[in-house]
Amino acid sequence: MAATPRPEDWIRVTPLGLWCEPGGFHVDPLRAVERAVVTHGHSDHARGGHADVLATPETLAIMALRLREDGTSGRRQPLPYGETVRIGEVDVRLVPAGHVLGSAQVVMDYRGSRVVVSGDYKRTPDPTCASFEPVPCDAFVTEATFGLPVFRHPPPAGEIARLLASVRRFPERSHLVGVYSLGKAQRVLSLLRAAGYHEPVFIHGALAGCCDLYRAHGIDLGETEPAAGRKRDEFRGRIVMAPPSATADVWSRRVPDPVVAHASGWMRVRQRARQRQVELPLVVSDHADWDELLLTVQEVGAPKVWVTHGAEEAMVYWCRRQGYDARALSLVGRDEEEE
Ligand SMILES: [Zn+2]
Ligand SMILES: [Zn+2]
Repeated sequence: MAATPRPEDWIRVTPLGLWCEPGGFHVDPLRAVERAVVTHGHSDHARGGHADVLATPETLAIMALRLREDGTSGRRQPLPYGETVRIGEVDVRLVPAGHVLGSAQVVMDYRGSRVVVSGDYKRTPDPTCASFEPVPCDAFVTEATFGLPVFRHPPPAGEIARLLASVRRFPERSHLVGVYSLGKAQRVLSLLRAAGYHEPVFIHGALAGCCDLYRAHGIDLGETEPAAGRKRDEFRGRIVMAPPSATADVWSRRVPDPVVAHASGWMRVRQRARQRQVELPLVVSDHADWDELLLTVQEVGAPKVWVTHGAEEAMVYWCRRQGYDARALSLVGRDEEEE
């Protein structure tokens, strides 16, 4: 009987990203390929033009919406969480990553060797998507967007309470909250509802498509109304949500005297909040913070940890000190996460 292969013998880093050789597919490839397994719908992971795509049904729906692909150019294969499919010589399973709707870790089994690619993930509960499940493996490919000890995300309910306190304190002003359209907008809406805020929220047109898609998947976001076509005074005392870029451009002029807030893990960095003229930074992240990253490495128990997609060095250093065989995967072409 053949020896069990080592993870590095069958999962490789190529200029296009992670390549699973015995499966003949890339995970989250950076350019169009024949066969892609996609972890989730953010644009730095889900690109257009692949011939075959395997992803969760939710991620395929998000890709169809955001990439305007009609699906006729190739095969779109939905794989619900927990089901296994054989691709080439590899068994592939998708497991919830807790990042955004449909986000998945890719679990790959090949001749007794298991590699898990985390995609992006977080451990904080989020009612807008299924919760992360740790999967024991031989090699764990982990993201490290916030892979520095300075990144410790506060409980999101507290950040939302600060937003609502500001809304009460400044009833004549509007609150313009910068949120990315996939994941963050819906999470902030659901956090507002959980905090007992049930007023209609005005939303920028760029957020509408993903909000509708979440609702179609049974996620309750409460009442939203289009911000377009409103009189300025209608925004007073209300919460308005828009993509972060729109909070500083001409679009924002329709909102009178706004308190500009951004909801992002990057808001932990005060300088960044200042640069973007954010008056009310809200540290709400859809990525694991430093403690969650380390907890996850320990829970999956993989002897090999491959760190990518962020601040690799500190995590690699920590992992090695703990006895893991850790290294940074240098994947080129990753933009800063839509956070
Ligand atoms: Zn993402
Ligand atoms: Zn990402």
